[in-house]
Amino acid sequence: MRGAVLYGPADVRFEERADPKIVEPTDAIIKVTATCVCGSDLWSYRGIQPVAEPTPFGHEYCGVVEEVGRAVTAVKPGQFVIGSFFASDNTCPHCRAGYHSSCQHRELVGGAQAALLRVPLADGTLVPTPGVPPDDLIPSLLTLSDVMGTGWFAADAADVRPGKTVVVVGDGAVGLLAVLSARQMGAERIIAMSRHPTRQTLAREFGATDIVTERGDQGAARVMELTHGVGADAVLECVGTQEAMMQAIRSTRPGGHIGYVGVPHGVALDGQELFFAHVRLHGGPAPVRRYLPELIRRTWEREINPGRVFDLTLPLDRVADGYRAMDERRAIKALLRP
Ligand SMILES: [Zn+2]
Repeated sequence: MRGAVLYGPADVRFEERADPKIVEPTDAIIKVTATCVCGSDLWSYRGIQPVAEPTPFGHEYCGVVEEVGRAVTAVKPGQFVIGSFFASDNTCPHCRAGYHSSCQHRELVGGAQAALLRVPLADGTLVPTPGVPPDDLIPSLLTLSDVMGTGWFAADAADVRPGKTVVVVGDGAVGLLAVLSARQMGAERIIAMSRHPTRQTLAREFGATDIVTERGDQGAARVMELTHGVGADAVLECVGTQEAMMQAIRSTRPGGHIGYVGVPHGVALDGQELFFAHVRLHGGPAPVRRYLPELIRRTWEREINPGRVFDLTLPLDRVADGYRAMDERRAIKALLRP
């Protein structure tokens, strides 16, 4: 088969790779129906997080089970399944507490930008859909593998509830889906930070009530103005930079919550400022697996349409164009079809 391999900064190649095989009896092999480029892939693509050697890339996937190891009982060949970027057993203490992305046996699922994918711990990781989905549901189902689950975790971690005022920092796919999640959870006011017209439009479609174009301290000052000097009840940080994190802390009211899901790069917090900010911080790699059954249901019943974040669809062999478009921010998110 062929798949995407990252060689170094701005160097993604679509090349021949060995077909994945069942290695452990708990593995499954799936035939990938759709995959995509993640904002977090760009940290490596831009050389900010260098790769040591040519690395098969991609961690978002949905598809049809092709083969299962002899210990797998929960999924079977022919089923359409979705899984998280972290494989998890769904039985250890951390999984039982809902933190599957900290599973004691977690394994990163890599190399999903390919025709076939090996998923470890298949019973704990993969969740089947009620049937084979119609084609128009594929993009939305694919988002549940990462970005939608991550946006949902941001809102959940920030304790978004009916009537609350929410700020979303970041207008990438995760930020936009954090807006959608906050709306689903009943937030009354959702302030989206964005300076891109097409992303602003989608944020409003997903439920944003206000758009703020300023960034950093100016952005935080604007939120203070909009909330009459109080600050937001919940701030969803979906970027991972120092500026975004400080903007989140400075936009939150005392006692408010910050859900942070942007992978931090160079973020350092000042203890004194944190102490006097009086905020609650909760974040990390999203336990996407926890939310899969509920988000599959909402998608299947067409209550949500998170697949709207894909504004570029390419055949998988043009994966390099997908990275380029996202790196240059010409596309919000690129969907790839093998
Ligand atoms: Zn576990």
